[in-house]
Amino acid sequence: MLHATSILNVDEKTDSVNLSSYLELFVDKSKKLTFEDASSSSKNNLFHSTSAEELSLGYIDAVAWIRFSIKNNTKQQLDFALVLPIPWINFIDVYRIEDNNIYEKKCGSLSSSSDMYLNSKSFFIPFSLGAEKSIKFYIRFSGADALTIAPYLYSKSVAKKNNINVTLYIGALIGVLVMMTLFYLVLSIIRKDRDYFYYAFYLFSIIFMLGSYYGYNSQIFWPDTPLFNQKIISASFAISLFTGLLFSRKFLNIEVLLPRFDIFLQFQMAIYFVLVILSFLSVEYHNVFIATIVLASVSLVSLFCISVKTYSLDVVGSGYLILSWFIFLINSLLAALMVQGYIGYSNILYYSFGVVTLIDTVLLAYALEAKIDTMKKEKFQAQRSLVEKEKELALLNYKDKNELEDIVSKRTLELFQINKKLEEISITDKLTKLYNRVKIDKELLYALEYAERYKAPFSLILLDIDYFKSVNDEYGHLIGDTVLMEFANILKFSIRNTDFVGRWGGEEFLVICPKTGKDGVISLAKHIQTQIRNINFSTVGKKTASFGVTTYYKGDTPMSILIRTDDGLYRAKESGRDTIVFEA
Ligand code: GH3
Ligand code: MG
Ligand code: MG
Repeated sequence: MLHATSILNVDEKTDSVNLSSYLELFVDKSKKLTFEDASSSSKNNLFHSTSAEELSLGYIDAVAWIRFSIKNNTKQQLDFALVLPIPWINFIDVYRIEDNNIYEKKCGSLSSSSDMYLNSKSFFIPFSLGAEKSIKFYIRFSGADALTIAPYLYSKSVAKKNNINVTLYIGALIGVLVMMTLFYLVLSIIRKDRDYFYYAFYLFSIIFMLGSYYGYNSQIFWPDTPLFNQKIISASFAISLFTGLLFSRKFLNIEVLLPRFDIFLQFQMAIYFVLVILSFLSVEYHNVFIATIVLASVSLVSLFCISVKTYSLDVVGSGYLILSWFIFLINSLLAALMVQGYIGYSNILYYSFGVVTLIDTVLLAYALEAKIDTMKKEKFQAQRSLVEKEKELALLNYKDKNELEDIVSKRTLELFQINKKLEEISITDKLTKLYNRVKIDKELLYALEYAERYKAPFSLILLDIDYFKSVNDEYGHLIGDTVLMEFANILKFSIRNTDFVGRWGGEEFLVICPKTGKDGVISLAKHIQTQIRNINFSTVGKKTASFGVTTYYKGDTPMSILIRTDDGLYRAKESGRDTIVFEA
């Protein structure tokens, strides 16, 4: 193919040019051609113009040559930099032809020249272009890693600016990740939470992976062992997937929720472990890298699927993991495709890998917070329901106690009332509701003791209804009963409050009059007698009664005093009834 090499014309306004459209490519499968061979006019037709896609050659067992020309159309010298942004290409030999002089510069990840990076991760070759001068470049790319050819031309100032921007960008990315790692590591210690620890571990592996991807690790940690760095790229990717699996398994509790699938995930982790070791041992480490990428696709799809599954099981944070692993899958797939040469190199794709990875990790942090938040809420809820239960219990106790107290006091009152009633019954005459003989005996004894102790007088009246038998005989027992009740009422209302009246038996009544002497008691008897005389008893009409009356004398006993009243009554009956007899 004969193509006129299109020359890139530059002036003072030229600041950034993607050289893909200005270069010609030649893939040397024999890997034997030297610069002299490649640049000889006989090999001219080997080169052909190409596209950015074609410049991502991937893993090929060949050497790639590119060439291009640049012409300065101005009348002044211009300063430029040739930038090759892919840090993992093993050997890059740059030949600059200027005024028939050849300047050679070797760089590449396995190159021994130490100034290849300057302060950028990209390979960076500064050069000057004199007034109205032309310059021709031949660049040879070789090595075991994917050949991604993406040369850029920057003016010196833009190159510097880019350099700073890339450094700041990568620095910020790594800085944020380092801060996050430390933060979550400390948090894992403070909160004694393994989720935080695995997350910190994952973050650390991501830092390591990005460091390899952007070429920082080699510059910082092992600048003198380029081959080791090459192997680390593959290993770092494997390690980050290993930790990603570890974190997700623990975080989503896959061991318990999906035990069989967990075995599959553990199996993947084991393979990563083997791959990491292999990537250091194997000479053909790019095969290990390809295996890692294939397994990574399996792992990321697995992680995506288990997150979807746990989401359906309502495991908190699953939603964030779905998003995170999906983005990770797409992101690494794009990066892998680019590295493999299936899609063309682009600065945006190359550098966005880092920030998208950061977004991924932040999503996982959200998942962590969601879980902690839910746990807190659950704990709070549990505490609240406990408190409520306790309150309920206390209220119930209180109610029970109060109810019990109510019941007891009610029962006590009832019992008290019953007792009172019983006592009343025990001392009350059923028919007349006056005190009965039991109470009379007690009261009499009390009256005697009182009189004795306080030397106070007291007197007795024994009252017997006259011819009561005839009432029963004439009107019947029931009428007799009503007459007895009417008599009882007369007595109740005739005596004083301090006096005491009871049914002595049959139609006889006894009145006890405390602090009452002979005169007092006789006048009371007379008063009662008058009341009786004045009343018309129902059915039977007029009735009378006889009274035996006495008063207390020192040395009296219940017997002696009662005998005197009885004697009085007897004499009253003898003397014709309706009479009061005082018996001294
Ligand atoms: P006196 O006293 O005037 O000599 O004549 P009396 O008829 O009242 O005498 P007695 O003591 O012989 O009669 C008393 C009667 O009272 C005998 C009994 O049938 C009657 N009696 C006693 N207790 C009751 C009672 O609770 N109800 C009724 N209806 N009658 C009673
Ligand atoms: Mg009698
Ligand atoms: Mg009588």
